Amino acid sequence: MKFLDQAKVFIKSGAGGAGCVSFRREKYIEFGGPNGGDGGRGGDVVVEAVQGLNTLIDYRYQQHFKAKRGNHGMGQNRTGADGDDVVLKLPVGTQIFEDDNETLLADLTEIGQRVVLVRGGRGGLGNAHFKSSTNQAPRYAQPGEEASEKWIWLRLKLIADAGLVGLPNAGKSTFLSATSRARPKIADYPFTTLHPQLGVVGIDNHEFVLADIPGLIEGAHEGHGLGDRFLGHIERCRVILHLIDGADMTVAESYKTIRRELEEYGAGLDEKPEIIAINKTDALLPEFVEEMTAELRTVTEAPVFAVSGITGNGVTEVLRALFDIIKKDRAREAAEEAAAASADDTDGSEEVGTEGEEAGSRPWSPEVSL
Ligand code: GDP
Ligand code: MG
Repeated sequence: MKFLDQAKVFIKSGAGGAGCVSFRREKYIEFGGPNGGDGGRGGDVVVEAVQGLNTLIDYRYQQHFKAKRGNHGMGQNRTGADGDDVVLKLPVGTQIFEDDNETLLADLTEIGQRVVLVRGGRGGLGNAHFKSSTNQAPRYAQPGEEASEKWIWLRLKLIADAGLVGLPNAGKSTFLSATSRARPKIADYPFTTLHPQLGVVGIDNHEFVLADIPGLIEGAHEGHGLGDRFLGHIERCRVILHLIDGADMTVAESYKTIRRELEEYGAGLDEKPEIIAINKTDALLPEFVEEMTAELRTVTEAPVFAVSGITGNGVTEVLRALFDIIKKDRAREAAEEAAAASADDTDGSEEVGTEGEEAGSRPWSPEVSL
C-alpha cells in the first residue's frame, strides 16, 4: 500500500577545475620553472535531513540541482577555488532512489543526517607537478575530472496529520483547496477508486497535511474492499476536523451521524481529538451561528469554530487550533521514537551504517593533455 509523496529531480555535481600550464617569468631569469596551479574541486550534491519539513512539495517546483564547478588553476602556483556544494534539504523519512525508482541510494532516518549523492570532480594538477629531471619545462597539465549527473527519485511516506470529515456538501473540498498551499503528488493506490485529497496547509511558518478522504463516511467502514486498508492512513491522523454545513437545520443530528460513522469504523477514530467548524458562515446571521453552537454544545464538548471556506473568515483560528494539537502529538511521537531507539541501542543490535564510497577509492584515470 502506497501513500507516497514523490518527486523526480536531476542532480549534477560540479566539474573539477583544470590544472594550469604556466612558467615563472621574471626579469633576468631566462628559463623560469613551471608554476601552474591545480584546479579546484567541483561541488558535491548532498542530501540532508532537516527539521520542520513534512512533504516533498518544494521539489515539485525546483527539479534541477547543480553544484558549482571548481575554478581553474592559475599561474604562480595558485590553486583554483573549490565549487560550492548543493544541499537538498529533505524531511526525515525521505528515501532516495536511482532513476529506476527501485535501487535505494540513501535512507534519511534522523535529523542532521547527510549523504553525498554525486561527488564533484577533482581538480586537475597544474604543470608544476610534472617537472622532472628529464623535463624541466612540462607544457601540460591535467584537465579537471568531469561532473557526474543523474536523475533520482525522492520518496516520502506521508502522514495525514489532520483528517477532514463531514456530511456530503459540508464544504470539505472547498475548505481543503482554500487552505492548501500545495497538493502533494501522491502515488496511485492500486485496487481502489477512492482518491484521498491531500493538501499541505501552511500556518505560522509550519506545515501539516490535511486529508479529505471521500468514502470514510459513505459506507467505507462496511469494508468496501480495500477501502478499509486504504483508510489506515487516516487512522493515523492526529486530529479530526469536523465540518458542519451552516445551512443545515439539524446540526446536532448531523453531528451525531458522523460521530456514529467514526465509531462504527473503529480503529480509534472516534477517540481522536476533534475540532468542529461550522462552515458557510458567510451566508449566515451571527445569531444563527450562536444558536448552532449552543445546539452543538448539547451533544459535544469539542471546541466549536465558525468559518467560511469561501471567504476565509475564521480559517486561521481553526488551522492554529489544529496545528496546536498536531505539534504536541508530533513531539510525543518523536519522544517515543527516541525512547525506542535508545532501548535498541542498549541491546547491542545497533545497525552498522553503510558509509558512502570514499572519493579516493573511486577509479579515476587522470588524463594528461599535451
Ligand atoms: P463537500 O461535499 O463536503 O466536499 O462540499 P463542497 O466543498 O463540494 O461544497 C458543497 C457546496 O457548498 C458547494 O456548492 C460549495 O460552493 C458550497 N460551499 C462550500 N463552502 C462554502 C462556504 O464557505 N460558504 C458558502 N456560502 N458556500 C460554500
Ligand atoms: Mg468533496
